[in-house]
Amino acid sequence: MQHILDAINGDAPGEDIGALEIPSSYRAAYVRREDADMFSGVESNDKDPRESIHIGEVETPELAPDEVYVAVMASSINFNTVWTSIFEPLPTFGFLDRLGRESSWGARHALDQHVIGSDGSGVVLQTGTAVRNWKPGDRVAIHCNYVDDQDPSAHDDSMKAANQRIWGFESNFGGLADLAVVKANQLMPKPSHLTWEEAAVNALCASTSYRMLVGRNAATMKQGDVVLIWGATGGLGGYATQLVLNGGGIPVGVVSSPEKGELLRKMGCERVIDRKAEGYSFWSDENTQDESEWRRFGKRVRELAGDDPDIVFEHPGRSTFGASVFVTKRAGTVVTCAATSGYMIEYDNRHLWMKLKRIISSHFANYREAWEMNRLIDLGMVHPILSATYDLEHTGDAAYQVHHNMHEGKLGVLCLADGPNLGVSDQAKRERIGEDRISLFSRTKA
Ligand code: NAP
Repeated sequence: MQHILDAINGDAPGEDIGALEIPSSYRAAYVRREDADMFSGVESNDKDPRESIHIGEVETPELAPDEVYVAVMASSINFNTVWTSIFEPLPTFGFLDRLGRESSWGARHALDQHVIGSDGSGVVLQTGTAVRNWKPGDRVAIHCNYVDDQDPSAHDDSMKAANQRIWGFESNFGGLADLAVVKANQLMPKPSHLTWEEAAVNALCASTSYRMLVGRNAATMKQGDVVLIWGATGGLGGYATQLVLNGGGIPVGVVSSPEKGELLRKMGCERVIDRKAEGYSFWSDENTQDESEWRRFGKRVRELAGDDPDIVFEHPGRSTFGASVFVTKRAGTVVTCAATSGYMIEYDNRHLWMKLKRIISSHFANYREAWEMNRLIDLGMVHPILSATYDLEHTGDAAYQVHHNMHEGKLGVLCLADGPNLGVSDQAKRERIGEDRISLFSRTKA
């Protein structure tokens, strides 16, 4: 890939980039089918991504007409990187096999290595014969909604398509690699003021938060809404907090350390709950929830915001869901996209129906939502929440950090980029938007 990197670093024109030879193999982070049972009998917490994520050469697949090859300059760790690497709740090879049965192009995905990664920034190298809107040399950010546009069910809201998938999780050839194969309708312009790694960390988490709070398909926050945000400096929460502040809402951010609380205040969120310091214990044992703790938590939210939350931004799942339903305002909304701590959820339904509350499900974002979110980032109205950057060889270490909640915001991964802090093409715009805002989460760089 060195000739590709040289051309990109040398700002070669699109025609030259398009003429570059695509190598027959490339470096990637992947998990192996043969390892799918390697952690059987091991507690979730002890399943170690550093043991299951491998870095090595994989074969370059052929390009379908609606796809492009992207030289991936940087990618990011998502929680789905963790799920894939600990083979929970299921090994992802079942997803690849199912895609493999759908079509001859789909069959390319059903391999014994799964190249992971659902985010990326980079440069388009070659386009399939049916691609119209993108050309070699384009600098792009990649979103992970992988949709079959010949499926009628994809044409209202593509997230509702019968065979909607998440790229790099339910499909192969993901972003944690020097090269990726993506559908043209996953591409968005790379925000010109960001480095490769800053541009790579946003699409999955930011677009998910956008759909949950702003888009037409979930909670549709309005000005003045009190929004309780779990994990407010985490991957989803770091963007949710910015969206609530931008949209005239009143965020109440929950975090688990004074440092994260401080970070939240620096973002402009004044109402902070440190769940560890305040010692909430919603479950008195594995099977019993403690309503008095829900009550204590609700009182605290009310004390900070002057009201109960109109919206609760849910993703921890089993550990918090009962409390989330309880504290939501009468006729308010719990919007959920995940269940990190367990997906068998329990809540007291009386608090839901008697107070006319709603639970709304949400999952990633359609192209339009991802595009709108990318636009906000490009305009400098929402900023990346990159806290640290790893190189591809250390993908397992980065996934380990996320698995154990040792990070803030997002962890970036350098792929083809030969160093951090590269890829800014509009320095004046960066200065206008402000380094302090763009780099607020920055802790260490590779
Ligand atoms: P993350 O970066 O790890 O952030 C999650 C935050 O949640 C953590 O920073 C932590 O904050 C908080 N948290 C974790 N466990 C908790 C618990 N038991 N109780 C209360 N708070 C807890 O992860 P993320 O990227 O935001 O993703 C979160 C979840 O959403 C994952 O399960 C992921 O798979 C899922 N997800 C789903 C979609 C979708 O499209 N459906 C998209 C993105 C992510 P504190 O410790 O500071 O409180």
